[in-house]
Amino acid sequence: MTRLESEIIFTPIPERIARLRELAYNLWWSWHPEAQELYRQIDPSLWELVYHNPVSFLREVRERSLDNAAANPLYLQQFDAVMAKLDAYMNAKETWYTRTYPDVKDEMIAYFSAEFGIHESLPIYSGGLGILSGDHVKEASDMALPFVAVGFVYPQGYFRQRLDQSGWQFAEYNKLDFANVPATPARTPDGKEVVVEVELPGRKIYAKVYRFQVGRVQLFLMDTDIHPNSQQDRELSARLYGGDQEMRVSQEIVLGIGGVRALRQLGINPTVFHMNEGHSAFLVLELMRELVMQGKPFAEAMREVQARCVFTTHTPVPAGNDAFPFPMIEKFFWQYWPQLGLSHDEFMALAKQNQDWGPTFAMTALALKMANHRNGVSELHGHVARGMWQWLFPSKSQDEVPIISVTNGVHTASWLAPELRELYNAYLGPDWEDRLDDSQTWQKIHAIPDAVLWEVRRKLKSQMIAFARERTRQRFVQLGQTPMVWPVLEEDILTLGFARRFATYKRATLIFKDMERLKAILNRPDRKIQIVFAGKAHPRDDPGKRFIQEVYQLSMQSGLAGRILFLEEYDIAVGRALTRGVDVWLNNPRRPHEASGTSGQKASLNGVPNLSILDGWWPEAYNGKNGWVIGEEREYANYDEQDWLDAQSLYTKLENDLAPLFYEHRDAAGVPTRWIEACKESIVTVAPMFSTRRMLTDYMSDLYMPAAVEAAAH
Ligand SMILES: *Cc1c(COP(=O)(O)O)cnc(C)c1O
Repeated sequence: MTRLESEIIFTPIPERIARLRELAYNLWWSWHPEAQELYRQIDPSLWELVYHNPVSFLREVRERSLDNAAANPLYLQQFDAVMAKLDAYMNAKETWYTRTYPDVKDEMIAYFSAEFGIHESLPIYSGGLGILSGDHVKEASDMALPFVAVGFVYPQGYFRQRLDQSGWQFAEYNKLDFANVPATPARTPDGKEVVVEVELPGRKIYAKVYRFQVGRVQLFLMDTDIHPNSQQDRELSARLYGGDQEMRVSQEIVLGIGGVRALRQLGINPTVFHMNEGHSAFLVLELMRELVMQGKPFAEAMREVQARCVFTTHTPVPAGNDAFPFPMIEKFFWQYWPQLGLSHDEFMALAKQNQDWGPTFAMTALALKMANHRNGVSELHGHVARGMWQWLFPSKSQDEVPIISVTNGVHTASWLAPELRELYNAYLGPDWEDRLDDSQTWQKIHAIPDAVLWEVRRKLKSQMIAFARERTRQRFVQLGQTPMVWPVLEEDILTLGFARRFATYKRATLIFKDMERLKAILNRPDRKIQIVFAGKAHPRDDPGKRFIQEVYQLSMQSGLAGRILFLEEYDIAVGRALTRGVDVWLNNPRRPHEASGTSGQKASLNGVPNLSILDGWWPEAYNGKNGWVIGEEREYANYDEQDWLDAQSLYTKLENDLAPLFYEHRDAAGVPTRWIEACKESIVTVAPMFSTRRMLTDYMSDLYMPAAVEAAAH
């Protein structure tokens, strides 16, 4: 037992089920609902109270409840089955990796990201980037890739979203109790705790490294909230994307430079380094410094680092890319560039921003220049990124700019409803998860009887509504009010879901452009429609907060009350409930600002078709039968024109296409057969292509392996 675990006081646990503790410390449970069931069944209300956190659960649960479980043959049967599955997983000799790359030995891929969205009980993510990283790590585990991940643990978590009575978002920060997370102190090969140090202006700062087991993959997260850091430095890793620019540059130094030092102390020497977005790009400096310290000339060190580095860009808008003023970089790096053998000007030139956006030291420019293997996250975004960064490759035309695209996907097991998994087990064949990126596998979805799929869809909607009612009830209890409309949401009417970060380009309020038309559409007696919204704005994004307030206030206006619901605190649990529980997933960003988007992929996988602008991943998926398109694939003179035309298109689609398909064409049993066709088509076309299995297969063949081969040449 590690020190951290031995310090934690757990409820005494009967020997027969003692492995519940081991299971709690392997986040494998987070994508195996049957493993979560082992805790939930022991005490369902406690399971909710601890927000589905097995470690807290085992600390809080009553001894008698554990004893009862250990004496229950049915429980023990389930327990043994889950443990056998875990053991088979952890000890498998034949895996995707051994099958696909039987001759590749001794490679290691290190994946750096500022956030990881693995489970709602581990609040170290804010939005899409984090969810993608979490899904990436889980899939790397399922495929048994030689893979480690590096990031931050944010001891104050990300904020919890609260809305005041007027719908204005305020942030509530809860301190993360280390005793309640599945962390163990990371150790060097000879058993010492790993603490890294990096230099900040006038001082050293230390970060302690924690290890999280995510299936077969180790995730190392750094924490600066330790002695002997100053109070200010202890706060440095406290919050995700908190603080000012100095705080941010300091964080990114710890992530990139500290992260490399952590791996070295752990005795892990990766072949390939993957920077997921520019936050970790300082890692290239540290890799080059190591080589220069070994006596290599800078130019040679640079080529070697370029060979082994992979960079993924996610941000198609210049302002969204991290960049720092030169004087700030001077203050932080004046002792560093001599160690690279560079002058001030040579150092700054490594990351000099385009004159039009600068003059700054840009993390994306640094990463693009220092990684030979680069990608955007959808075909459209790849194209946009090649245009945006063409100035870095002056001898190349836009199409020749060496940024490829690997379209994002979602981790199937994490986002698929258990009720549907059972159905897929029955119809796709027992080993469908081994072939989940194979389109053939999914053709068999068409064999599911309409009534059977409809029944499951209704059940998932009903669960979502129960979830939304409970969340809403809790909110009104806290506010000391009674809700205006109760119960919220109706069971049998067409339900749209819209959940995402409230960045303004995502245009959460687009559907409210023409209020009279909207009210008429939502309230047509034989074709009622309701919409569930959720989403957080960045704590400093006041325009985003105004959008939330607008949606919230509209949800109480006459003509809309009862038809619009805003759910607080969009997180993985809310995302899960909504993407599987609504009828249609609504996505209306301002094209082409959505790099990929993944929430719609989660929806499709669960038989929820998309109604979406042709932005991000959707142009690659849409086939005329698996969902609907809003607006056109074109450029507009200005935002007002674009917004107005897109809104009109959205209304027309709802009136002419979606509502008739949902409410008409019902068979004798009331099943909307043509609607179910769209549900099936969305599963068949989206589940294989937009899975992390397909995504990581592409990363392996197009980025990781080429980087490993190129690195071996040095
Ligand atoms: C999937 C997901 C996202 C990303 O979705 P987008 O389509 O990129 O908006 C963000 N937050 C949560 C909680 C999610 O589950």
